[in-house]
Amino acid sequence: MTFRVNEGGQSYIGGRYVSSTSGQTHNVVDPSTGESLATVELAGPAEVDLAVAAAKAAFGDWSSATPSTRSAALIELSRVLANRAAELAEVESLQAGKPIKLTTEFDVPGTIDNVAFFGGAARNLEGKAAGEYSGDHTSMIRREAIGVVGSIAPWNYPLQMAGWKILPAVAAGNTIVLKPAELTPLTSLLFAEACTEAGFPPGVVNVVTGRGSVAGQHLVGHPDVSMVSFTGSTGVGVQVMKTAAESAKRMHMELGGKAPFVVFDDAHLEATVHGAVAGALINSGQDCTAATRAYVQRPLYDAFVAGVADLMRTVRLGPTLDPSTDQGPLVSMRQQASVAGFVERARVDGAKIVCGGQIPGGELARGAYYEPTLVTGASQDSEIVQQELFGPVLVVLPFDTDEEGLRLANDTPYGLAASVWTRDVFRALRATREIRSGCVWVNDHIPIISEMPHGGYKASGFGKDMSTYAFDEYTNVKHVMYDATAVARKSWHRTIFGDR
Ligand code: NAP
Ligand code: MG
Repeated sequence: MTFRVNEGGQSYIGGRYVSSTSGQTHNVVDPSTGESLATVELAGPAEVDLAVAAAKAAFGDWSSATPSTRSAALIELSRVLANRAAELAEVESLQAGKPIKLTTEFDVPGTIDNVAFFGGAARNLEGKAAGEYSGDHTSMIRREAIGVVGSIAPWNYPLQMAGWKILPAVAAGNTIVLKPAELTPLTSLLFAEACTEAGFPPGVVNVVTGRGSVAGQHLVGHPDVSMVSFTGSTGVGVQVMKTAAESAKRMHMELGGKAPFVVFDDAHLEATVHGAVAGALINSGQDCTAATRAYVQRPLYDAFVAGVADLMRTVRLGPTLDPSTDQGPLVSMRQQASVAGFVERARVDGAKIVCGGQIPGGELARGAYYEPTLVTGASQDSEIVQQELFGPVLVVLPFDTDEEGLRLANDTPYGLAASVWTRDVFRALRATREIRSGCVWVNDHIPIISEMPHGGYKASGFGKDMSTYAFDEYTNVKHVMYDATAVARKSWHRTIFGDR
């Protein structure tokens, strides 16, 4: 296929494609085949400076535009993206290794819905109404845009992450420079192009296509960037926070996850088996909320393991554009080697690989595939239970008492998402209260919606994407206080001079 971005495989700055002066390029690869899809010029510090300058120049007018102006641009953007939905799904599938079913039914419509949601939400930025709280003053709240936002995104959901980062920021009147992951820049560029087509003024949305260690680092430390919003691994996020802290920037961090999947003994077995396989294998497990650790109460344990293994064996691996493919490749050969390493070390450590655990051969050998994998017999403190692995691997462990199940669920550094499976309302209520994570599902695992927030506890970060809660990240709250007495000598002055 031919991409329009091939003609301008570079950064998108100030409403147009801009060539890079770095002299470096990056081949975007289809992980189904290892073949090159597009060559992208890598942005260096010079392009980041240009993009930040464009965003800074656009900030005054954009932040003072009426909510209805910003809303109209977003609603038009949802139309432009809907018109390009098939192209977006195809490019996203090819660059990120996602089955076309997934991009067509989830990534692309989810992004368009998010755009439409923020089109409405842009007109609903509220503060407290004015009031007299001291008796002598009238106070009011202004909610103001922060300035230029520097955003860094990961490769697992490139289009959705572009939306999650860009939409609340610009709906609230900020301007933005987004650096997508080097592996998957293409749909972020298409998104920025669509913003221009929808009538966003030049410079409101900019995308720089560089390396994290070069363009990302420069963006995060840039003096004209007022806020950093980052989605990625906890390790890189901590580096980013250190850099951003040097200039006291505001931060919003969406980091890694290791979601538990807790099955109580009264759960509906078939539902848990289906839920676990879907929750573990979505996006080949490269999902920060994917089900990674299933804790199953002893009476259901054997049946659960057998059911999950049987269902995993039916999952069809294949190239991303084949409509019958259930699971595509991982994003890269490097990711494949990393996942295989985790499973191999677990095996050496004494864990049992119930199904999968292999790199498939034959036709699939040239891609970055890895079989759906079920692991039992690992210990709670082993790396396969504790660390983010980001592949199609589910580990199952048994538990006896409810207390134990909930304790194990909370026993990793992460706290992004979790699910509990039970038909007992008291168990469900207790679990949703006690599990320390930004989302707890009951009898499901994975669904997200534009109206509700997404974000972490603990080492999974802080701040919210999606929903109107995201506006708390992307706005400053200003208190404006008017004297209501019109007297020169206020009563409180006596604490500083005189008696009255
Ligand atoms: P990553 O390695 O942490 O990279 C994320 C982004 O940071 C990439 O764009 C990367 O650029 C950039 N980066 C690397 N070093 C940097 C630096 N020194 N300064 C500034 N930016 C830098 O994550 P990933 O491997 O792309 O994605 C997988 C991770 O994302 C997982 O940990 C997953 O849990 C997390 N994630 C979290 C959420 C959430 O909402 N909590 C959602 C999705 C994904 P390069 O492309 O050059 O590496
Ligand atoms: Mg990485």
